Amino acid sequence: MAHVLVVGAGIAGDTLALLMERDGWRVTVAEIAPALRTGGQTVDLRGDSREVLERAGLLRQALDCLVEQRGAAWIDARERRLAEMPVEAFDGRGYVSREELLRTDLARIIHEATGPGVTHRFGETVQALKDTEAGVRARFSNGAQETFDLVVGADGAHSKVRALRFGPEENYRKPLGLAHAWFTLTERPGTPSLDGWFLTHNAPGRRGVEARPGHPGQQEVGLTFAADTLPSRHEREAQFALLERTFAGVGWRTTEFLAAARQADDFALDTFDQVHVPCWNTGRIVLLGDSAWCASPLSGLGTALALRGAAELAAALRAAGAPGDTSQTPAALASFEQAMRPRTASAQQLPPGRIASMAPKSALGIRVNALAMRALQSKAARPLVRRAFADSEHGRTSDPKAEPRTSPAL
Ligand SMILES: Cc1cc2nc3c(=O)[nH]c(=O)nc-3n(C[C@H](O)[C@H](O)[C@H](O)COP(=O)(O)OP(=O)(O)OC[C@H]3O[C@@H](n4cnc5c(N)ncnc54)[C@H](O)[C@@H]3O)c2cc1C
Repeated sequence: MAHVLVVGAGIAGDTLALLMERDGWRVTVAEIAPALRTGGQTVDLRGDSREVLERAGLLRQALDCLVEQRGAAWIDARERRLAEMPVEAFDGRGYVSREELLRTDLARIIHEATGPGVTHRFGETVQALKDTEAGVRARFSNGAQETFDLVVGADGAHSKVRALRFGPEENYRKPLGLAHAWFTLTERPGTPSLDGWFLTHNAPGRRGVEARPGHPGQQEVGLTFAADTLPSRHEREAQFALLERTFAGVGWRTTEFLAAARQADDFALDTFDQVHVPCWNTGRIVLLGDSAWCASPLSGLGTALALRGAAELAAALRAAGAPGDTSQTPAALASFEQAMRPRTASAQQLPPGRIASMAPKSALGIRVNALAMRALQSKAARPLVRRAFADSEHGRTSDPKAEPRTSPAL
């Protein structure tokens, strides 16, 4: 039976594992984390996300996990509203949509749908990948070696597969000038309620503090600031110290959030980067998801592209006769890239002002941003914005100016 190694059990990796198992592949997934990773904010169920989940038979489960939200509001340091955008503003399909679920839940739903043909190896990664006559020889971190008909690097923006076979990260990483910390805050007696609102407080100097509803009794917190490089993931104390320095005096609930970050199991800090890789495959090794094309969380399309990419890759392999015949695998990888490349290139074109509006530089910029949010909902602008949202319904589309994207058949 043809055997594929998928490196990374994220949205892209597990979706591909599920689809390839259904096509008759034997699938091994190597995930570096000791268990399925949790955490992350909400993703919505429009466009590609909805379509791929529906075809995979998982839409119902995703819809059962929706987060109750009333809208987004921009607030000052004393929690006075500068602007708000209720969910209803654009028929439930605007900046905050009626159908959003936590990334954690989506990852779990996909993961649990994989069957006995998929073996997950947690706490495992690849150390070397070598082409041989028989396939790709992988050496794992536990020293074991095994040969696969195909290896897929679905191991995120800091991909090891990419580093091993395509070159160092700095060749492909395009920093966008911002960094973001995110984690789950567990409510305690006295924790202020969000009452269903996704609140953002921006402070001058490109600093943003946000909290949005999560699972009942939890809030998803984000801290955004200007940075291109960060302390390494292993230097936790240096990461917290950087956040505490950067967000000193910002007001609102920032002090509470900084303390909660230290208690959170799912705390993560990373830069907002894009990944530009000129060719995603070499022989029988291919990159998928953020490792190949990360458009950054600012695009709002990471999950939608991951789901669509997994579906396109599975479809290309199927069309090439795999898993029965894997002789055409390299051609299938090329046709997968041809199908996905225009979408990812489009997603990477962030609209002008996107970065500035996420984290304005000055007090004036913060006021202008709030005014813009109000103006978008004016009677005159509403039909245009509504149409832009409808046209761009491919994953989380947090920017009304995002381009429309069409859906090729899977
Ligand atoms: C825990 C988590 C929370 C996130 N939260 C948000 C969010 O709030 N907002 C947002 O816009 N995006 C978020 N993202 C990113 C978002 O999930 C992706 O942009 C998108 O879903 C594309 O998914 P992906 O599968 O390509 O990459 P990812 O979702 O990043 O998944 C990659 C997987 O590969 C694993 N991995 C990494 N290195 C290795 C290695 N060397 N060997 C084996 N496995 C490896 C990771 O642990 C992870 O499970 C988050 C990602 C993760 C992992």
